[in-house]
Amino acid sequence: MVSTLLIRNGCVLIVNLNKFKFITKLENNYDSNPSYCSHCGKPLTFKKFYKQFEFEKKFCCKKCASQYPEVEVNKFSSETEKTIYAFLSLTLPQYNIRHNITDIFPPYEIDMCIETEHFPVFLEFNGSLHARFNSHNLKCQINDKIKKTEICKNRQQKMIRLCSNRGLYSRPLIFEESLNLVLDSINYLIKANNDYGQCIDVVYTGKDIYRYKEKFKDDIIEEDLD
Ligand SMILES: [Zn+2]
Repeated sequence: MVSTLLIRNGCVLIVNLNKFKFITKLENNYDSNPSYCSHCGKPLTFKKFYKQFEFEKKFCCKKCASQYPEVEVNKFSSETEKTIYAFLSLTLPQYNIRHNITDIFPPYEIDMCIETEHFPVFLEFNGSLHARFNSHNLKCQINDKIKKTEICKNRQQKMIRLCSNRGLYSRPLIFEESLNLVLDSINYLIKANNDYGQCIDVVYTGKDIYRYKEKFKDDIIEEDLD
């Protein structure tokens, strides 16, 4: 049983990671090939491994960790992002996936990048916060637009945005369905291998999930909804 604490709106929720089918798969695969403590070599439980997912060196206890200087890592900004990363690295083990990237389009941060053999696919996650209208979110929405314009229109590259105006983490079935659509979109972009900019939005409206595709070709933006 893997549980994690999630603090949202000041409330602490205990979220059971086993509710995500792919986490169970990750855990099953993990058992046959566990990670070891970087200091003492003791095998780590899946819970300890997952908790330190973003760290290159993982430790079995605080004492072992204290033997090493703290290294700066790009931490995930939310459990949702960590789950997206876990899902993608499990389903696309052949690609290097970077997260919280600041060297692509400074000073903006890009959530993830899937380095495929043809091109990078940038992934942005726009959580529930962006939907509520206030000055902070207005800034987020403007930043989202700037990033899309730069990546897809100016650089003619590929971007996928997972957007939801409700918390996905507390809706495991919807979350998995959305993640499968993101995966399908990545595979679609790789298969099509077009030389123009494309943006695919996977949007959960709180009721339905839909996908919205945009092509940035010859200064014409073509749109397609499915
Ligand atoms: Zn240890």
